[in-house]
Amino acid sequence: MLTVQRVVLSSRPGRNGHPSPENFRVEETSLSTELKQGEVLVRTLYLSVDPYMRCRMNDDTGADYLLPWRLEECIDGGGVGVVEASRNAHLAIGDNVTSFNWHWQTHDVIHGDCVQKVDPRMVDGHLSYVLGAVGMPGLTALLGVREKGHVTSGAGQTMVISGASGACGSLAGQIGRLDGCERVVGICGSDEKCQTLVSQLGFTAAVNYKKGDLSRALRDSCPNGVDIYFDNVGGPISETVISQMNSGSHVILCGQISQYNKDVPYPPPLSEKTLEVLRCKNITRDRFMVLNYMDKHKEGLELLSQWVKTGQIKVLETVANGIENMGVAFCSMMTGGNFGKQVVKISD
Ligand code: NDP
Repeated sequence: MLTVQRVVLSSRPGRNGHPSPENFRVEETSLSTELKQGEVLVRTLYLSVDPYMRCRMNDDTGADYLLPWRLEECIDGGGVGVVEASRNAHLAIGDNVTSFNWHWQTHDVIHGDCVQKVDPRMVDGHLSYVLGAVGMPGLTALLGVREKGHVTSGAGQTMVISGASGACGSLAGQIGRLDGCERVVGICGSDEKCQTLVSQLGFTAAVNYKKGDLSRALRDSCPNGVDIYFDNVGGPISETVISQMNSGSHVILCGQISQYNKDVPYPPPLSEKTLEVLRCKNITRDRFMVLNYMDKHKEGLELLSQWVKTGQIKVLETVANGIENMGVAFCSMMTGGNFGKQVVKISD
């Protein structure tokens, strides 16, 4: 038996409510390390906190592909770890493995079929990148841009990204630039974030939506209007961006984080005025879902890996420490405490 720590959901914030660290509780439990055929004992290295988890805190997620977390049960999400004992022919001690359904637990016993093996060379030795730039958020940025963005290199396009300093947004802007957009303009929540997007990540300009007149600042940064909008946030920010979009332009409907603490359907309804702009200007606004492109994930991860290793893409991360800080890290990410991908380091 091994004494392990795990995180359970102790209460729900309610469909109209902000999550708080008190919704999560850390507890100790005993884990039997006797392995059945096919199983492995894993030690958790990094856990991911992601916006979609807000839906899993509700008793009904509103999405058929997402199960609600159950009260008093161990939470799960993206994680990466190392095999410490194995009765699986394909996994050896020391192998790194990942899963979308990793328990928020310091060690776990899982069937080898439920994890994917990770080649540390794919992430230049940074195993946390498996949860970020060379993982689900990276694929979201890449496939979102490529499947729904209609970027044409050399066509002088302007791409705007909301949530631009986050895991997906910071990569989407860099990919827009690599794929040939002329201007890449980020929207995010602090001056410091704006400065870094421009000075380190190659964004043309960045606008702090918490300060001053967003519409005006956006107009100044996008003198030729907006051709592609990578939308991570929804709400008033997105309505402002859409009002400045060109005819025949494209919204990549990736996420709507500004609405996740509200009891509204997904995607949340737009104002009549914005619907009219979309109609009159023939703007596409297709919902994008990274899970709908499983056949493109392997190739996508290889490209992201190559970009990261060659430095063509810069990776930003915010790393919290310790399983006891999972709830704090989640709530911090939901309110902009992160810059780049928010992960939590669980062990060395
Ligand atoms: P981020 O790393 O971007 O973290 C969330 C960020 O959202 C915060 O850092 C904060 O930055 C910003 N934010 C929070 N509240 C608001 C608000 N009210 N208005 C504007 N910005 C806000 O998270 P991810 O990169 O993991 O996810 C980004 C989006 O992509 C989410 O909407 C998520 O649901 C979506 N997504 C969609 C997927 C798909 O398949 N469609 C897959 C993965 C993610 P700031 O400081 O700028 O406020």
